Amino acid sequence: MGKISINIATGSLQPKQTIVGIDLGTTNSLVAIIHPDSRQPIVLKEVDQTTLVPSIVHFGQEGQVSVGNEAKSFLVSDPERTVFSVKRLMGKSYADVEDASSFGYEVIDDGLENLVKIKVDDTFYTPIELSSFIHKSLKQRAEHLLKTPVTQAVITVPAYFNDTQRQATRDAGKLAGLDVLRIVNEPTAASLAYGIGLRPDEEKTIAVYDLGGGTFDISILQISGGVFEVLSTHGDTYLGGDDLDKAIVNSWQAEHALGARVSTDKAFGQSLRLLAEQAKKELSERDRFDTDFEGYKLRITREAFNGLAAPLIDKTIKACDMALRDAGLAPGAIDAVVMVGGSTRVPAVKEAVSRFFGKPVSDEVNPDEVVALGAAIQADILAGNNKDVLLLDITPLSLGIETMGGLMDVLIPRNAKIPTRAGRQYTTQKDGQSGMRISVFQGERDLVKDNRKLAEFNLAGIPGMPAGLPKVEVSFLINADGILVVKAKELRSGVEQSIEVKPQYGLTDAEVESMLLDSIQHAKDDMQTRALVEAQTEARQLIETTRSFLSKNGSMLDSSERAETEGAINGLESRLETATKDELQHAITHLNDISRPYAERVMDEAIRTAMKGRKI
Ligand code: ADP
Ligand code: MG
Repeated sequence: MGKISINIATGSLQPKQTIVGIDLGTTNSLVAIIHPDSRQPIVLKEVDQTTLVPSIVHFGQEGQVSVGNEAKSFLVSDPERTVFSVKRLMGKSYADVEDASSFGYEVIDDGLENLVKIKVDDTFYTPIELSSFIHKSLKQRAEHLLKTPVTQAVITVPAYFNDTQRQATRDAGKLAGLDVLRIVNEPTAASLAYGIGLRPDEEKTIAVYDLGGGTFDISILQISGGVFEVLSTHGDTYLGGDDLDKAIVNSWQAEHALGARVSTDKAFGQSLRLLAEQAKKELSERDRFDTDFEGYKLRITREAFNGLAAPLIDKTIKACDMALRDAGLAPGAIDAVVMVGGSTRVPAVKEAVSRFFGKPVSDEVNPDEVVALGAAIQADILAGNNKDVLLLDITPLSLGIETMGGLMDVLIPRNAKIPTRAGRQYTTQKDGQSGMRISVFQGERDLVKDNRKLAEFNLAGIPGMPAGLPKVEVSFLINADGILVVKAKELRSGVEQSIEVKPQYGLTDAEVESMLLDSIQHAKDDMQTRALVEAQTEARQLIETTRSFLSKNGSMLDSSERAETEGAINGLESRLETATKDELQHAITHLNDISRPYAERVMDEAIRTAMKGRKI
């Protein structure tokens, strides 16, 4: 590393600052750079340490914080003060955390913000703060090796991370003193590490299969003309190597009746977990694992392990199938299958994936390091050293706002390429209306109540104008990090308001999937409901404008016209909620037919008066 040490004392020769690439994993984190001489991406490591920094934070009794391998040793001796898998908690509410008891440390639901906190002794930590300790440690590692301050980074996230989770990741970097230039999807980084997409003339469709410790992602990417496009993504943020470890622990627990001991003795439970992981790793190379632990003969064969792993592997293959279907592709259309994540070292995983896609998988780049290497390449692109590459991602669910009658008005459809922007004009429903509530929703259903609310704000201070006159332009901007900014502006007055959407908590992939399924199952009902709601909205507006017309111009109508109009209005109003769409439309036409003759008369009269006024 001597070659890349930089003497900042001399000042004048100080080169452009290195932007580091960080893979903040559920299990392991890494920091990588492009070597300034060889121009090759390398993962940074201290002498006699691994490139992997376990994503573990330990708090000592005197408040000292340790991270990585040092912290890992406390998993057994001091589990209550040792925090692992914190990435699973990023941007999550207590309700999102399926199995809080499996964490060993205390996960707190304070009910107020709905976001989880972790309690260590008497201190509460957010997942953002905990992640920032890991970032700090990676930053220090890079600074120590590069002998220069490191303040800029690219950080990767799973493709399915939503806005809150991306935002939380960005905040964690910021808290560690890093300017986060870009949040990049892990599969995108992995393909960059394979050099895919770096040549402008390249045309390829690839699948990135990422099975780590705590998350699973499958992404289908299309690369064309130096442009990266994610065609589809599927996955599960609660599926990974940890589940394989748990399956082994459970089988040992059943075999030796260890249930009672495990539930009372946390350190014993953690030891079993670590042994199970060791067994799993050894079974990637060997046929059997045997050990003696506190008098228990713990053993497992590869065949038995494959049996335990089969349901998990099946789930990932189903997700591959769905991702291909979303992309509208057959397995044969995939040019390369890139393997990412430590768990892809399991031979049964490689076999299943290779069988599904009908070709050998690409596993030459170290699956632990591939994402960090790609992040370094992206950092280099951002530093302006590689100008041909552009990265595009997609939105997993549609984004829109609530309009009259609780309808979802989609501004950015599902699977739109990002960065993207969209805008639409809306107006007020009432005379003199000074505020407009903008409610932002995510989902595929026609009624917002079936979708998920992301944010809400009020555009206040619209100057008094008749209903329908204000022009409120609502615009959605999704930036390259996948973070949504919603802006509302009344164009006549220039009043505006914007919000960066940080939803209260995240969706699991299973939820995204079930939202999609729901929208398909309810498509017909939803269409009918939408038509009915639209008719009701139209009827309400007609009642309001006719009433306002009567109160202003009542004197110009004869009594029978007034009576007939009032009768029609009241009739329509009383049946607003019960009438069918067709009945409502009939009643609307009827009311319009009654009012048309005198409306025209009043209009003519108004014009005559106006002309009179202008007479000399
Ligand atoms: P993450 O991206 O979630 O941080 P990694 O890609 O670092 O995860 O993968 C960590 C997982 O890979 C752990 O569950 C670990 O046990 C598993 N793993 C690492 N090496 C092997 C191996 N040789 N065989 C099987 N699993 C492995
Ligand atoms: Mg990973």
